[in-house]
Amino acid sequence: MHDIRFAPAAIGSGVRSALRLACGPALAFGLAACGGGPPGGTAEAPRPNIVLYIVDTVRADRLGVYGYGKPTSPRLDAFAAGAVLFENAYAQSSWTRPAVASLFTGLLPPAHRTVGRRSVLPEDATTLAEILAVNGYEGMGLVRNPNVGRAFGFAQGFSRFRSEDRERDETMLDRVRLWLDERQGAEGPFFLFLHAIDPHGPYDPAPEFEEMFEAGGAPAHYRTVRYLLGLNRGEVEPEPETADALSRLYDAEVAQNDRAFGELLDELEARGLVEDTAVIYLSDHGEEFAEHGRWEHGLSLYEEVLRVPLVMRLPGVPPRRVEEPAQHVDVLPTLLAYLGVEAPPTDGRDLLAARRRGDAPLDVYTHLDVDGHRAASVIRGPYKLVLPQSPSQGTAPMLFDLDADPGELTDLAADRPDIVERMLGLLAERNLAGEIVSAEEIEDDQIDEDVRRRLRALGYVD
Ligand SMILES: [Zn+2]
Repeated sequence: MHDIRFAPAAIGSGVRSALRLACGPALAFGLAACGGGPPGGTAEAPRPNIVLYIVDTVRADRLGVYGYGKPTSPRLDAFAAGAVLFENAYAQSSWTRPAVASLFTGLLPPAHRTVGRRSVLPEDATTLAEILAVNGYEGMGLVRNPNVGRAFGFAQGFSRFRSEDRERDETMLDRVRLWLDERQGAEGPFFLFLHAIDPHGPYDPAPEFEEMFEAGGAPAHYRTVRYLLGLNRGEVEPEPETADALSRLYDAEVAQNDRAFGELLDELEARGLVEDTAVIYLSDHGEEFAEHGRWEHGLSLYEEVLRVPLVMRLPGVPPRRVEEPAQHVDVLPTLLAYLGVEAPPTDGRDLLAARRRGDAPLDVYTHLDVDGHRAASVIRGPYKLVLPQSPSQGTAPMLFDLDADPGELTDLAADRPDIVERMLGLLAERNLAGEIVSAEEIEDDQIDEDVRRRLRALGYVD
């Protein structure tokens, strides 16, 4: 049994004080309740450190451990052999900010209301970092995508938080080393959140990775933000080789990040931290290469932008592959249950307990509302319904059978109006059928010039 345990008494005031650690990592040590302790240990089980590693823009099907044939992810593949891997993990949105907001809060977009280009994760949102801070974790956030920077509310709960220029992801490790050095001898556990960026456009891998994926033949302008924006806006006509050339550059970037991820794992090992550090690897969304005529992400809700890797190495939890669907909102309740920390109400669930109990999979919900592209989708069983809410997304609900048609090429809506109606009802129940008004917004002139410059470098602002 591994029940979510309630804190005995709230200390201090406010909602966060009710979210204190109730017991140690019960799952890790097979404990039924807080009263015990690790075999031969002290009364209170040690709390593991946590590393949450997001790599931006990685679609699951470009990773070896998810079935890809090219060597993009040797380090992740080896890591996954000792971890719980979710084969069917979904992003809650197809661009960074709402997806990470769902990850940080365990809430679907209608609840966190951090959906658009100017949306800010509101101060009153309860985030994973805040919950962990209340439970004695020292939080460090290091992000390479300004969409999840301080200006947009994502620094909540971290005692240290840096949003940095896009550099190679391996340079993140220098900062991590310094921080780990600094906190040597610190009493409590740490929560390290890293948001890496290599695979995000523009794709400009280091030469050795370019060579490995025979990506060097791509013309120089393919590596620019301007070109990708032009493709997205229909201002540039793709050439017959464009998708393949961009795809190779992207693979090279995925591999480059994989090396950086591996170096982080090596660092944990060198410091003797592997046994007591939970490491969660995932992506915020995928990427399109014209499978449905689009490029990059944030422009649709097709599988190529929603299917992400989710791999958790949790000390004490045996490695396995899990077929049941998982989504961003599940990460917070899963992690907190593992730690024995009471979770606030969320739209997700503890994936490990659900599996043990044999619960039926929950429906997967996704939402997009950025730059005039608005849609929502729900997946139940093999069926996926996409409800377009702006002209760019279509004119009527689309229904796909993902088992028979994983490429989402055949719209079954006209043949199965009964299913369409039922699934539209599901979206309405979750407040996903209409517009979501942002909880908080920031005006362009409130965003400092450095953040704007970095957003432009990723193609986000003109
Ligand atoms: Zn992203």
